[in-house]
Amino acid sequence: MSFSDHKIEPDNLAVLPRTSGVYIFKGEGTLPLYIGKSVDIRSRVLSHLRTPDEASMMAQTRRVDFIETAGEIGALLLESRMIKEHNPLFNQRLRRVKTLCSIRLMQTASGAVPVIVDSKSVILGATPELYGLFSSAHSANAKLKELAQQHMLCLSVLGLEKTSKRGCFGLQIKTCLGACVGKEDRLTHDQRLFSALVDTQVEVWPFSGPVDLIEQSGDWIQKHRVNNWCYLGARCSKAGRQSKLSTLKQHDFDLDSYKILVKPIMLKTVRLEEVAS
Ligand SMILES: [Zn+2]
Repeated sequence: MSFSDHKIEPDNLAVLPRTSGVYIFKGEGTLPLYIGKSVDIRSRVLSHLRTPDEASMMAQTRRVDFIETAGEIGALLLESRMIKEHNPLFNQRLRRVKTLCSIRLMQTASGAVPVIVDSKSVILGATPELYGLFSSAHSANAKLKELAQQHMLCLSVLGLEKTSKRGCFGLQIKTCLGACVGKEDRLTHDQRLFSALVDTQVEVWPFSGPVDLIEQSGDWIQKHRVNNWCYLGARCSKAGRQSKLSTLKQHDFDLDSYKILVKPIMLKTVRLEEVAS
């Protein structure tokens, strides 16, 4: 890591700051046992000590390191990246997903048709009309079927069931309003499909290149560089030094960063500065 970190002994927890940041439990070796984040590092670390389920982790802990951030989003971004880099023993094991899938709405002559696409065929963060992010085509398909059921959509029209002249199976059991046999207007059906998906729309990166997300704590201003929903690293450490940016590829869409950043950036609740690329 290019960030400065502070090392303390566990019997000296009082020096832990009451500020935002990431904390790292370490054992005898150099590998982290657990990485967490908080807006109040000291009280969060102390609460781990009081949690009976975590006694085994605490028994192995010899040291608690911490890295302060100027705000909460910085702590979330840093935590997510450090967990990915170090894969600590006591953090929940997350299955690495190399290829993400999504649902793309294609406009055809007869109407809108959902197509399952993956991050090899579309650019997440740049391709519009994508809905939902899934770890497999199978789970994207399952979500479509679930939405079809909730919104009384036609599986045949959605391409999830073979088309026949008598209409889809759902028509017989009254879960389809009849778009497959012309009983329901196709446009009305497609509007319901759109409203079923709209909340899960994958936002296109709204800038032409990287931006710095700025957080401030007192007179300390910290900048976190982000591009295409991917965290590239912090630019100002607490010591005032310029820490190096990570060498991650500039256009790697990152699901964890996306989840952290999508609301604050789209709702404009954070300070942003565009960076000349
Ligand atoms: Zn139908």
